[in-house]
Amino acid sequence: VSDLMDSMEYGPAPESAAEALAWLVDRGDRFGQFIDGGFTSPGETFDSKNPATGEVLALITQANAADVDAAVEAARKAQPKWARLSGHQRARHLYALARQIQKHARLLAVLETLDNGKPIRESRDIDVPLAARHFYYHAGLAQLLEDERPGHAPVGVCGQIIPWNFPVLMLAWKIAPALAAGNTVVLKPAEWTSLTALMFADICAQVGLPKGVVNIVTGDGAVGEMIVAHPGVDKIAFTGSTEVGRKIRAATAGTGKRLSLELGGKSPYVVFEDADLDSAVEGLVDAIWFNQGQVCCAGSRLIVQEGVAEAFLDRLKARMAGLRIGDPLDKCIDIGAMVDPAQRDRVAAMVAEGAAEGTVYQPDTALPDRGCYFPPTLISGLSSASALMQEEIFGPVLVSTTFRTPGEAVQLANDTRYGLAASVWSESINVALDIAPRLAAGVIWVNGSNMFDAAAGFGGLRESGFGREGGWEGLMEYLGPERAAKALKPYARPDRAPEPEP
Ligand code: NAD
Repeated sequence: VSDLMDSMEYGPAPESAAEALAWLVDRGDRFGQFIDGGFTSPGETFDSKNPATGEVLALITQANAADVDAAVEAARKAQPKWARLSGHQRARHLYALARQIQKHARLLAVLETLDNGKPIRESRDIDVPLAARHFYYHAGLAQLLEDERPGHAPVGVCGQIIPWNFPVLMLAWKIAPALAAGNTVVLKPAEWTSLTALMFADICAQVGLPKGVVNIVTGDGAVGEMIVAHPGVDKIAFTGSTEVGRKIRAATAGTGKRLSLELGGKSPYVVFEDADLDSAVEGLVDAIWFNQGQVCCAGSRLIVQEGVAEAFLDRLKARMAGLRIGDPLDKCIDIGAMVDPAQRDRVAAMVAEGAAEGTVYQPDTALPDRGCYFPPTLISGLSSASALMQEEIFGPVLVSTTFRTPGEAVQLANDTRYGLAASVWSESINVALDIAPRLAAGVIWVNGSNMFDAAAGFGGLRESGFGREGGWEGLMEYLGPERAAKALKPYARPDRAPEPEP
């Protein structure tokens, strides 16, 4: 992965928004739907704003039922032809998409930062390269599919609904495996952040992706509901809040639609007293302040061993005071703007409501005069039962508590309705190997956080959802169940013990 990323070329830090704004002007500042290989005329629109300034970037169409019908129909028409292509032929298209993402990496990164408020360093070095990596990786899987998983069948038309925190990366996580496996898609970006998905639509047209293989419809949750309810959709892949995931599960129950849900989290960050505390502090900065804490697997619950708790929190506070907050296009910035004033106000209200139960620390760093910002916040001394320890805040707010024994650490870490990710910090391999398997989470990092790769399945347990994205596991979500199950049989490895019967 690192070789691949090193080979990606970037120019000087893209501090200028000029190219992205020129692209918006060139596209008329208003967007219709991308259906059957082309854009429809804009309909009833809403504003897409830059959260760092409040300025309107573009007008986005709220899709109606006829648009969703047309998108599903285009996807259905295209699907058998797309599935009849060989894996190698589909791979050529996926490679072309990956290369174009790399070619336009700078423009995509600036557009993402303008639309979402995330630091340019993150969109440039993480979101966009990982999105390209996802298409490259799945091009490889498409080539291997016929040999490695013979007799597979795609699911059909996939309705894909994504959130606003990693717009282009979540798009890649959804579209790349679906296409690799021979499915076609109708994808809806989140209403606050549609721009990179619309630019991706341009890329699909540029590389000559067959019409109807990718369709992008825009708008709010009502459009998502229409996709979920549409009888022409065979599978729903959703990433977003647990609340909406629950509604989607209810809406698809009994319909025969396949479903995968990537939902919220309240991931524990467990620091043992033998941990390398400086590294653990750095890891925690990444775990909770990456993307302003608007990360599903954010290490948002610090659980630190009593003997080092005070020293650890002191170092953490000193580090927080050094975090630079401001214009997301400034490449030196650590914390950018939150996605929308509504999200910032929601976070502020949660902090105000629960703060009295603990001790609040916010560095006295000045916030920019305008735009949607919230300071890095630590609330310590909370009990595991308090609302702030239990609810997903989805902002730059870390909550913390302490433990005495390893058993207590495990009990506190698992005291949550979620189960997306967890981090364990210890210099002892024995402690790490003892604790990690006892944590109820889909992804567990040892002495690290937020490590992602296209080849590694990502997903949750409990109310964090089910299904995996990435790796062969993720691809299997896009293959028909019966024939896929048969195809898997030859891969029971003789050198491993058979899995126990459920
Ligand atoms: P959200 O659930 O409000 O919205 C997600 C998407 O669903 C948006 O596109 C929205 O328009 C659409 N939607 C809203 N109501 C709908 C409905 N009734 N039917 C169908 N679609 C509907 O979530 P959000 O605020 O955009 O994102 C934040 C949430 O996403 C957090 O809870 C976060 O943890 C979660 N998330 C999870 C992962 C993961 O991989 N597990 C990744 C990123 C974000």
